[in-house]
Amino acid sequence: MALIELNQVGKSFAGKKGTIHAVNGINLTIEEKDVYGIVGYSGAGKSTLVRLLNGLETPTDGQVIVNGEDVAKLQGAALRSFRKKVGMIFQHFNLLWSRTVIENIQLPLELAGVAKEQRQKKAEELLSLVGLDGRGDAYPSQLSGGQKQRVGIARALANDPDILLCDEATSALDPQTTEEVLELLANINQKLGLTIVLITHEMNVIRKICNKVAVMELGKIVEEGSVREVFRHP
Ligand code: ADP
Ligand code: ADP
Repeated sequence: MALIELNQVGKSFAGKKGTIHAVNGINLTIEEKDVYGIVGYSGAGKSTLVRLLNGLETPTDGQVIVNGEDVAKLQGAALRSFRKKVGMIFQHFNLLWSRTVIENIQLPLELAGVAKEQRQKKAEELLSLVGLDGRGDAYPSQLSGGQKQRVGIARALANDPDILLCDEATSALDPQTTEEVLELLANINQKLGLTIVLITHEMNVIRKICNKVAVMELGKIVEEGSVREVFRHP
């Protein structure tokens, strides 16, 4: 069974000049342990697709099926437990600036009601996993961009998700740092068997770590397949 399946998914918004079809008739299958890239220019519908995948938006057409469940039908406890299974990292990291690194990583566990001792242990393990041993007491403002994103990754992994959604996660980083963060994501994919869905406007990012790719234009997928197939040179 596919981990993520989109069947004829559409999402439209009422705009001033009529209806905007942000996502339009998308079919997509993402298998467990894939590193799946979704690439497209600004306005292609990538962010809308991400919000459909994590249940922040409900589709106006079709179904988003994750682990065999129709995301639009989840409510209450089932929705909360689904959200824990989908970690997210962002372009601007979205860290809390008034909290230390270790406190940022613990935040999702705190919200999930995990006991303090257990929270601290888990956060220390994650800190080590992302290569930030010893930096737990630093504040985000004291870290480089790459280190901030490592904290973002650790926080996203706190609830042991099945899926990590990366929304332009390297777009604010320089090429060298991008390379390091992608390497970390590839390691995590290997080590934890985590499925990664990566949204980007940069083809290089896709080439570096994805095994599959979908190219989006104006709400539709215009090309899809293994990275080798899609990026072969004519
Ligand atoms: P991308 O992430 O690829 O830049 P988006 O998903 O943000 O694309 O946007 C796709 C299209 O949908 C754009 O034309 C955008 O203006 C429109 N759109 C996205 N979200 C909304 C919204 N909440 N209300 C109205 N239009 C939206
Ligand atoms: P980048 O380094 O990629 O530009 P940052 O994550 O450093 O992105 O933050 C972008 C801007 O938003 C900065 O000016 C930062 O001070 C501000 N900012 C982001 N999150 C917070 C927050 N939780 N509290 C206060 N300021 C924030």
